[in-house]
Amino acid sequence: MSVNIEFADRLKELPPYLFVEIDKARREAVAQGRDVINLGIGDPDYPTPAHIVEAMKKAVEDGGNHHYALDAGLPALRQEIARWFQGRFNVALDSDTEIYPLIGSKEGLAHLPLGVINPKNKVALTDPAYPAYRPSILFAGGKIVSVPLKAGNDFLPDVAKIEKINGLKMIVVNYPNNPTASVATREFYQGLVDLARSKGFVIVSDMAYSEVYFDNQKPVSILEIEGAKEVAVEFHSFSKTYYMTGWRIGWACGNPTLIAALGKVKTNFDSGIFQAIQVAAITALKSPPLVAEEMRALYQERRDLVINGLRNIGWKITPPKAAYYVWAKIPKGFSTSMETAKAFLDKADIVVTPGNGFGEAGEGYIRMALTVPKERLHEAVERLKKVL
Ligand SMILES: *Cc1c(COP(=O)(O)O)cnc(C)c1O
Repeated sequence: MSVNIEFADRLKELPPYLFVEIDKARREAVAQGRDVINLGIGDPDYPTPAHIVEAMKKAVEDGGNHHYALDAGLPALRQEIARWFQGRFNVALDSDTEIYPLIGSKEGLAHLPLGVINPKNKVALTDPAYPAYRPSILFAGGKIVSVPLKAGNDFLPDVAKIEKINGLKMIVVNYPNNPTASVATREFYQGLVDLARSKGFVIVSDMAYSEVYFDNQKPVSILEIEGAKEVAVEFHSFSKTYYMTGWRIGWACGNPTLIAALGKVKTNFDSGIFQAIQVAAITALKSPPLVAEEMRALYQERRDLVINGLRNIGWKITPPKAAYYVWAKIPKGFSTSMETAKAFLDKADIVVTPGNGFGEAGEGYIRMALTVPKERLHEAVERLKKVL
Protein backbone atom coordinates (compact mmCIF):
# COMPACT_ATOMS: atom_id res chain seq x y z
CA MET A 1 0.00 0.00 0.00
CA SER A 2 1.36 3.38 -0.83
CA VAL A 3 0.50 6.45 1.19
CA ASN A 4 0.07 9.71 -0.62
CA ILE A 5 2.10 12.15 1.45
CA GLU A 6 1.77 15.76 0.44
CA PHE A 7 3.14 19.07 1.68
CA ALA A 8 0.65 21.10 3.72
CA ASP A 9 -1.19 23.87 1.88
CA ARG A 10 0.76 26.51 3.79
CA LEU A 11 3.98 25.17 2.28
CA LYS A 12 2.55 24.87 -1.21
CA GLU A 13 1.67 28.58 -1.09
CA LEU A 14 5.27 29.66 -0.59
CA PRO A 15 7.54 30.67 -3.44
CA PRO A 16 10.83 28.71 -3.61
CA TYR A 17 13.43 30.22 -1.28
CA LEU A 18 15.35 32.57 -3.53
CA PHE A 19 18.87 31.63 -2.53
CA VAL A 20 18.21 27.93 -3.09
CA GLU A 21 17.37 28.62 -6.75
CA ILE A 22 20.42 30.82 -7.22
CA ASP A 23 22.64 28.28 -5.56
CA LYS A 24 21.35 25.50 -7.83
CA ALA A 25 22.39 27.46 -10.95
CA ARG A 26 25.78 28.14 -9.33
CA ARG A 27 26.32 24.48 -8.46
CA GLU A 28 25.54 23.44 -12.03
CA ALA A 29 28.15 25.90 -13.32
CA VAL A 30 30.71 24.69 -10.78
CA ALA A 31 29.95 21.05 -11.69
CA GLN A 32 30.84 21.92 -15.28
CA GLY A 33 34.27 22.94 -13.99
CA ARG A 34 33.77 26.67 -14.49
CA ASP A 35 35.59 29.19 -12.26
CA VAL A 36 32.54 30.85 -10.72
CA ILE A 37 32.72 34.11 -8.73
CA ASN A 38 29.81 34.00 -6.31
CA LEU A 39 28.43 37.45 -5.50
CA GLY A 40 25.04 35.86 -4.85
CA ILE A 41 24.76 35.02 -1.17
CA GLY A 42 25.94 37.39 1.54
CA ASP A 43 27.90 35.07 3.81
CA PRO A 44 31.16 36.63 5.07
CA ASP A 45 34.27 34.89 3.70
CA TYR A 46 36.35 35.35 6.86
CA PRO A 47 36.45 32.97 9.84
CA THR A 48 35.26 34.09 13.28
CA PRO A 49 37.99 36.08 15.16
CA ALA A 50 40.38 33.83 17.10
CA HIS A 51 39.57 35.25 20.56
CA ILE A 52 35.91 34.21 20.11
CA VAL A 53 36.89 30.74 18.88
CA GLU A 54 39.21 30.38 21.91
CA ALA A 55 36.37 31.33 24.29
CA MET A 56 34.20 28.71 22.59
CA LYS A 57 36.86 26.00 22.98
CA LYS A 58 37.07 26.61 26.72
CA ALA A 59 33.29 26.75 27.06
CA VAL A 60 32.82 23.49 25.16
CA GLU A 61 35.14 21.70 27.59
CA ASP A 62 33.11 22.85 30.58
CA GLY A 63 30.53 20.16 31.28
CA GLY A 64 28.35 22.76 32.99
CA ASN A 65 27.54 24.07 29.52
CA HIS A 66 26.36 20.73 28.15
CA HIS A 67 22.81 20.75 29.47
CA TYR A 68 19.55 22.26 28.31
CA ALA A 69 20.05 25.99 28.41
CA LEU A 70 17.49 28.26 30.04
CA ASP A 71 15.00 29.49 27.44
CA ALA A 72 15.82 33.13 28.06
CA GLY A 73 19.54 32.36 28.05
CA LEU A 74 22.31 33.12 30.50
CA PRO A 75 21.61 36.22 32.61
CA ALA A 76 25.27 37.14 31.98
CA LEU A 77 24.65 37.19 28.23
CA ARG A 78 21.56 39.38 28.55
CA GLN A 79 23.46 41.72 30.88
CA GLU A 80 26.33 41.96 28.41
CA ILE A 81 23.88 42.70 25.57
CA ALA A 82 22.38 45.48 27.72
CA ARG A 83 25.85 46.91 28.37
CA TRP A 84 26.76 46.75 24.67
CA PHE A 85 23.47 48.37 23.66
CA GLN A 86 23.94 51.20 26.14
CA GLY A 87 27.44 51.82 24.80
CA ARG A 88 26.51 51.66 21.14
CA PHE A 89 23.09 53.38 21.10
CA ASN A 90 22.84 55.07 24.50
CA VAL A 91 19.62 53.11 25.16
CA ALA A 92 18.98 51.42 28.52
CA LEU A 93 17.42 47.94 28.32
CA ASP A 94 16.16 45.80 31.19
CA SER A 95 18.08 42.55 30.75
CA ASP A 96 15.25 40.46 32.21
CA THR A 97 12.23 41.83 30.37
CA GLU A 98 13.52 43.68 27.31
CA ILE A 99 16.14 41.29 25.88
CA TYR A 100 15.76 37.74 24.55
CA PRO A 101 18.56 35.72 22.95
CA LEU A 102 17.81 33.87 19.71
CA ILE A 103 19.14 31.01 17.60
CA GLY A 104 20.09 33.65 15.03
CA SER A 105 17.96 36.71 14.39
CA LYS A 106 16.20 34.96 11.48
CA GLU A 107 14.79 32.43 13.94
CA GLY A 108 13.29 35.17 16.09
CA LEU A 109 11.96 37.13 13.12
CA ALA A 110 10.25 33.95 11.94
CA HIS A 111 8.69 33.13 15.30
CA LEU A 112 7.49 36.58 16.39
CA PRO A 113 4.39 36.73 14.12
CA LEU A 114 3.07 33.50 15.68
CA GLY A 115 3.02 35.30 19.01
CA VAL A 116 1.51 38.58 17.82
CA ILE A 117 -0.48 38.12 14.59
CA ASN A 118 -4.01 36.75 14.38
CA PRO A 119 -5.55 35.41 11.16
CA LYS A 120 -6.37 38.23 8.70
CA ASN A 121 -4.32 40.83 10.59
CA LYS A 122 -2.58 43.20 8.19
CA VAL A 123 1.20 43.23 8.16
CA ALA A 124 3.15 45.71 6.03
CA LEU A 125 6.31 44.46 4.34
CA THR A 126 8.60 46.56 2.23
CA ASP A 127 9.15 45.66 -1.39
CA PRO A 128 11.96 44.76 -1.91
CA ALA A 129 12.63 42.90 1.36
CA TYR A 130 14.72 40.08 2.84
CA PRO A 131 12.73 36.98 1.76
CA ALA A 132 12.59 35.39 5.23
CA TYR A 133 9.85 37.71 6.61
CA ARG A 134 7.02 36.64 4.33
CA PRO A 135 6.58 32.92 5.17
CA SER A 136 6.22 33.39 8.92
CA ILE A 137 3.55 36.06 8.47
CA LEU A 138 1.63 33.78 6.09
CA PHE A 139 2.00 30.85 8.53
CA ALA A 140 0.43 33.01 11.23
CA GLY A 141 -2.48 33.78 8.87
CA GLY A 142 -1.51 37.41 8.41
CA LYS A 143 -2.36 39.40 5.32
CA ILE A 144 0.62 41.07 3.67
CA VAL A 145 0.41 44.65 2.41
CA SER A 146 3.35 45.78 0.27
CA VAL A 147 5.02 49.13 0.80
CA PRO A 148 7.39 50.03 -2.04
CA LEU A 149 10.94 51.25 -1.45
CA LYS A 150 12.02 53.74 -4.09
CA ALA A 151 15.42 55.13 -4.99
CA GLY A 152 13.95 58.66 -4.99
CA ASN A 153 13.17 58.31 -1.26
CA ASP A 154 16.50 56.63 -0.39
CA PHE A 155 14.67 53.29 -0.20
CA LEU A 156 12.71 54.37 2.88
CA PRO A 157 8.95 53.68 2.95
CA ASP A 158 6.64 56.69 2.64
CA VAL A 159 5.10 57.18 6.11
CA ALA A 160 2.09 59.00 4.58
CA LYS A 161 1.28 55.84 2.57
CA ILE A 162 1.58 53.65 5.69
CA GLU A 163 -0.88 55.96 7.44
CA LYS A 164 -3.47 55.11 4.76
CA ILE A 165 -3.39 51.35 5.51
CA ASN A 166 -6.52 50.72 7.56
CA GLY A 167 -6.24 48.35 10.51
CA LEU A 168 -2.49 47.84 10.18
CA LYS A 169 -1.21 45.52 12.91
CA MET A 170 2.52 45.33 12.21
CA ILE A 171 5.26 46.63 9.92
CA VAL A 172 8.69 45.12 9.34
CA VAL A 173 11.55 47.48 8.50
CA ASN A 174 15.20 46.61 7.97
CA TYR A 175 17.99 49.19 8.12
CA PRO A 176 20.81 49.03 7.15
CA ASN A 177 18.78 47.41 4.40
CA ASN A 178 19.25 44.14 2.62
CA PRO A 179 19.11 44.30 -0.43
CA THR A 180 19.22 48.09 -1.09
CA ALA A 181 22.09 48.93 1.34
CA SER A 182 20.30 52.11 2.44
CA VAL A 183 20.13 53.39 6.04
CA ALA A 184 17.27 54.86 8.06
CA THR A 185 17.33 58.44 9.25
CA ARG A 186 16.30 59.49 12.75
CA GLU A 187 13.50 61.55 11.16
CA PHE A 188 12.08 58.51 9.37
CA TYR A 189 12.05 56.47 12.59
CA GLN A 190 10.52 59.37 14.52
CA GLY A 191 7.66 59.64 11.99
CA LEU A 192 7.11 55.89 12.00
CA VAL A 193 7.12 55.61 15.81
CA ASP A 194 4.71 58.56 16.14
CA LEU A 195 2.35 56.94 13.62
CA ALA A 196 2.59 53.51 15.28
CA ARG A 197 1.73 55.03 18.67
CA SER A 198 -1.26 56.94 17.33
CA LYS A 199 -2.58 54.09 15.14
CA GLY A 200 -1.65 51.24 17.47
CA PHE A 201 0.54 49.03 15.31
CA VAL A 202 3.76 47.20 16.09
CA ILE A 203 7.14 47.97 14.50
CA VAL A 204 9.62 45.16 13.90
CA SER A 205 13.10 46.49 13.13
CA ASP A 206 15.68 44.09 11.71
CA MET A 207 19.11 45.54 12.45
CA ALA A 208 21.33 42.60 11.48
CA TYR A 209 23.78 45.02 9.80
CA SER A 210 24.01 47.57 12.63
CA GLU A 211 27.84 47.44 12.61
CA VAL A 212 28.41 47.18 8.85
CA TYR A 213 28.50 50.83 7.79
CA PHE A 214 30.79 53.12 5.81
CA ASP A 215 32.40 56.55 6.14
CA ASN A 216 31.85 56.47 9.93
CA GLN A 217 28.08 57.05 9.50
CA LYS A 218 26.76 54.94 12.41
CA PRO A 219 23.21 53.66 11.80
CA VAL A 220 20.66 54.58 14.49
CA SER A 221 18.54 52.06 16.38
CA ILE A 222 14.78 52.65 16.36
CA LEU A 223 14.94 52.23 20.14
CA GLU A 224 16.82 55.55 20.32
CA ILE A 225 13.55 57.27 19.41
CA GLU A 226 11.46 58.65 22.28
CA GLY A 227 8.49 56.35 22.91
CA ALA A 228 9.76 53.56 20.63
CA LYS A 229 9.68 50.98 23.41
CA GLU A 230 5.88 51.31 23.50
CA VAL A 231 5.59 49.85 20.00
CA ALA A 232 8.88 48.44 18.71
CA VAL A 233 11.03 45.35 18.91
CA GLU A 234 14.45 45.22 17.28
CA PHE A 235 16.41 42.17 16.07
CA HIS A 236 20.18 42.01 16.32
CA SER A 237 22.71 39.45 15.20
CA PHE A 238 26.27 38.31 15.86
CA SER A 239 26.45 36.90 12.34
CA LYS A 240 27.58 39.87 10.33
CA THR A 241 29.49 41.85 12.98
CA TYR A 242 31.73 39.00 14.12
CA TYR A 243 31.72 36.66 11.07
CA MET A 244 29.57 34.22 13.04
CA THR A 245 26.88 33.24 10.50
CA GLY A 246 27.24 29.53 11.21
CA TRP A 247 27.08 29.82 15.00
CA ARG A 248 23.41 30.81 15.08
CA ILE A 249 23.05 33.44 17.76
CA GLY A 250 21.34 36.83 17.93
CA TRP A 251 18.82 38.65 20.11
CA ALA A 252 15.55 40.55 20.19
CA CYS A 253 15.12 43.65 22.34
CA GLY A 254 12.56 46.34 23.01
CA ASN A 255 8.90 46.30 24.06
CA PRO A 256 8.49 43.83 26.97
CA THR A 257 5.11 42.49 25.79
CA LEU A 258 6.51 41.70 22.36
CA ILE A 259 9.56 40.09 23.97
CA ALA A 260 7.30 38.00 26.23
CA ALA A 261 5.17 36.87 23.25
CA LEU A 262 8.27 35.83 21.34
CA GLY A 263 9.62 34.06 24.42
CA LYS A 264 6.39 32.13 24.86
CA VAL A 265 6.42 30.92 21.24
CA LYS A 266 10.07 29.90 21.52
CA THR A 267 9.57 28.05 24.82
CA ASN A 268 7.19 25.79 22.92
CA PHE A 269 9.49 25.28 19.93
CA ASP A 270 13.10 25.15 21.09
CA SER A 271 15.04 24.64 24.26
CA GLY A 272 17.51 27.48 24.20
CA ILE A 273 20.88 28.16 22.62
CA PHE A 274 23.84 25.85 23.31
CA GLN A 275 25.31 27.50 26.39
CA ALA A 276 28.91 27.35 25.12
CA ILE A 277 27.83 29.54 22.19
CA GLN A 278 26.27 32.00 24.62
CA VAL A 279 29.54 32.15 26.58
CA ALA A 280 31.48 32.79 23.35
CA ALA A 281 28.93 35.48 22.41
CA ILE A 282 29.70 37.33 25.66
CA THR A 283 33.36 37.37 24.60
CA ALA A 284 32.32 38.62 21.14
CA LEU A 285 30.45 41.59 22.64
CA LYS A 286 33.50 42.44 24.74
CA SER A 287 35.72 42.56 21.63
CA PRO A 288 38.00 45.56 21.26
CA PRO A 289 36.54 48.17 18.83
CA LEU A 290 39.29 47.28 16.35
CA VAL A 291 37.51 44.01 15.48
CA ALA A 292 34.48 45.78 13.98
CA GLU A 293 36.64 48.59 12.57
CA GLU A 294 38.71 46.10 10.57
CA MET A 295 35.55 44.42 9.29
CA ARG A 296 34.22 47.79 8.08
CA ALA A 297 37.54 48.75 6.49
CA LEU A 298 37.57 45.44 4.63
CA TYR A 299 34.12 45.94 3.10
CA GLN A 300 34.69 49.61 2.41
CA GLU A 301 37.82 48.78 0.41
CA ARG A 302 35.90 46.15 -1.54
CA ARG A 303 32.98 48.51 -2.09
CA ASP A 304 35.25 51.21 -3.49
CA LEU A 305 37.02 48.73 -5.76
CA VAL A 306 33.72 47.53 -7.26
CA ILE A 307 32.04 50.94 -7.54
CA ASN A 308 35.13 52.57 -9.11
CA GLY A 309 35.90 49.56 -11.32
CA LEU A 310 32.38 49.40 -12.69
CA ARG A 311 32.24 53.17 -13.19
CA ASN A 312 35.40 52.93 -15.29
CA ILE A 313 33.67 50.46 -17.60
CA GLY A 314 30.60 52.66 -17.90
CA TRP A 315 28.25 51.25 -15.23
CA LYS A 316 27.43 53.98 -12.73
CA ILE A 317 26.13 52.76 -9.37
CA THR A 318 25.19 54.68 -6.23
CA PRO A 319 27.70 53.53 -3.56
CA PRO A 320 26.08 51.69 -0.63
CA LYS A 321 26.07 53.52 2.73
CA ALA A 322 25.97 50.35 4.81
CA ALA A 323 25.62 46.55 4.73
CA TYR A 324 27.85 44.59 2.38
CA TYR A 325 25.74 44.72 -0.76
CA VAL A 326 25.84 46.70 -3.95
CA TRP A 327 22.29 47.31 -5.19
CA ALA A 328 22.66 48.26 -8.82
CA LYS A 329 20.28 49.28 -11.56
CA ILE A 330 20.83 46.79 -14.38
CA PRO A 331 23.26 48.07 -17.00
CA LYS A 332 22.24 49.51 -20.39
CA GLY A 333 21.30 46.90 -22.95
CA PHE A 334 19.57 44.56 -20.45
CA SER A 335 15.83 44.57 -19.88
CA THR A 336 15.19 42.48 -16.73
CA SER A 337 16.94 41.46 -13.54
CA MET A 338 16.79 37.77 -14.45
CA GLU A 339 18.13 38.34 -17.97
CA THR A 340 21.07 40.25 -16.45
CA ALA A 341 21.80 37.58 -13.83
CA LYS A 342 21.63 34.83 -16.49
CA ALA A 343 23.94 36.75 -18.83
CA PHE A 344 26.48 37.38 -16.04
CA LEU A 345 26.52 33.67 -15.19
CA ASP A 346 26.58 32.39 -18.78
CA LYS A 347 29.08 34.88 -20.20
CA ALA A 348 31.24 35.81 -17.19
CA ASP A 349 30.75 32.98 -14.66
CA ILE A 350 29.57 35.54 -12.12
CA VAL A 351 26.64 34.85 -9.79
CA VAL A 352 24.55 37.88 -8.79
CA THR A 353 21.07 37.93 -7.24
CA PRO A 354 18.25 39.20 -9.48
CA GLY A 355 16.49 42.08 -7.68
CA ASN A 356 12.98 40.82 -8.39
CA GLY A 357 13.69 37.87 -6.08
CA PHE A 358 13.29 40.39 -3.22
CA GLY A 359 9.91 41.59 -4.54
CA GLU A 360 8.38 43.15 -7.65
CA ALA A 361 9.87 46.56 -6.91
CA GLY A 362 13.32 44.95 -7.13
CA GLU A 363 12.80 44.38 -10.87
CA GLY A 364 15.41 46.33 -12.81
CA TYR A 365 18.07 45.79 -10.13
CA ILE A 366 20.64 43.17 -9.24
CA ARG A 367 22.38 42.65 -5.89
CA MET A 368 26.07 41.89 -5.57
CA ALA A 369 27.50 40.76 -2.22
CA LEU A 370 30.94 42.05 -1.23
CA THR A 371 31.76 38.83 0.60
CA VAL A 372 34.58 37.67 -1.71
CA PRO A 373 38.25 38.76 -1.64
CA LYS A 374 39.48 41.86 -3.47
CA GLU A 375 41.33 39.87 -6.13
CA ARG A 376 38.10 38.11 -7.07
CA LEU A 377 36.16 41.38 -7.18
CA HIS A 378 38.87 42.80 -9.42
CA GLU A 379 38.57 39.71 -11.63
CA ALA A 380 34.76 40.13 -11.70
CA VAL A 381 35.11 43.72 -12.93
CA GLU A 382 37.55 42.55 -15.63
CA ARG A 383 35.13 39.87 -16.80
CA LEU A 384 32.19 42.29 -16.82
CA LYS A 385 34.19 44.60 -19.07
CA LYS A 386 33.65 42.01 -21.81
CA VAL A 387 29.93 41.55 -21.12
CA LEU A 388 28.79 45.15 -20.88
C1 LIG B 1 21.75 37.94 7.43
C2 LIG B 1 20.43 38.56 7.75
C3 LIG B 1 19.70 38.16 8.87
C4 LIG B 1 19.98 36.85 9.58
O1 LIG B 1 20.88 36.90 10.54
P1 LIG B 1 21.09 35.66 11.51
O2 LIG B 1 21.28 36.30 12.82
O3 LIG B 1 22.28 34.95 10.98
O4 LIG B 1 19.87 34.79 11.47
C5 LIG B 1 18.56 38.86 9.23
N1 LIG B 1 18.14 39.88 8.46
C6 LIG B 1 18.78 40.26 7.35
C7 LIG B 1 18.23 41.37 6.55
C8 LIG B 1 19.95 39.60 6.95
O5 LIG B 1 20.54 39.93 5.81
